Amino acid sequence: SLSIIYVITPTYARLEQKAELTRLSHTLLHVPNIHWIVIEDSPEKTVLVQNFLNRTRIHSTHLYVATPSEYKMKRTDPHSLKPRGVLQRNAALDWLRENTSPYDDGVVYFADDDNAYSLQLFEEMRNTTKVSIWPVGLAAALRYERPKVTNGKVTGWYTYYKPDRPFATDMAGFAINLNLIHQHPEAKFSNIFAAGSQESTFLTLFHLTLDDLEPKANMCSEVLVWHTRTEKSKTPYEEAMVKLYGADAY
Ligand code: UDP
Ligand code: MN
Repeated sequence: SLSIIYVITPTYARLEQKAELTRLSHTLLHVPNIHWIVIEDSPEKTVLVQNFLNRTRIHSTHLYVATPSEYKMKRTDPHSLKPRGVLQRNAALDWLRENTSPYDDGVVYFADDDNAYSLQLFEEMRNTTKVSIWPVGLAAALRYERPKVTNGKVTGWYTYYKPDRPFATDMAGFAINLNLIHQHPEAKFSNIFAAGSQESTFLTLFHLTLDDLEPKANMCSEVLVWHTRTEKSKTPYEEAMVKLYGADAY
């Protein structure tokens, strides 16, 4: 039988949120045996996400945890400084450890709400013994960042940004067997590491060698996921509209 893929998606309120969730849900609707864990960066569940999940036909779990303000990105912070989605991904890992059995068949994947995912990616990760790995397009200030594969084995990384990272991959570039999540209950993300070091620091906690990594996507020669980023929409005319029509008029 097909292993369940647990897709973990942190999300936060902004103008583009519903558009991002709609697009991602339309991808996931095409993937069999999926369990979508959506964690809001919020002190409570929002009506928007609650209604959204109620209406989608995807099997989902809705969680929330707010990022404390000292760890929130400020407009003046450089992009790579503060990590995003840390507590939210940890909440999903806690949920998995409490609500699945260490012997269940499953694969865990961190899918941010703004990336672009091919359907083939999910079939590639479906069979993951320990950790599957593959290239990510538009990541690390490159066309793609990818594992180096020699004779079917991962031997290093094609990257330029912090090349000493033991696992030079993006959040979208790997999947982990559920059993491994149970075997390493201490493995979680941490706000003390910079955004670009989250993945590598996390994977290090599973005591893996490069040899444990399972190269997917045709020996890491194909890009099946893209670290796309959505331009922040600006709505400068909203204020004028309120003056013209009143706050409740439209
Ligand atoms: N995110 C969040 N809280 C925030 C900012 C981001 O939960 O304050 C989520 C966001 O919805 C996404 C993930 O964390 O699923 C990564 O954030 P983002 O895409 O902004 O990071 P980037 O891709 O630019 O590194
Ligand atoms: Mn993103």
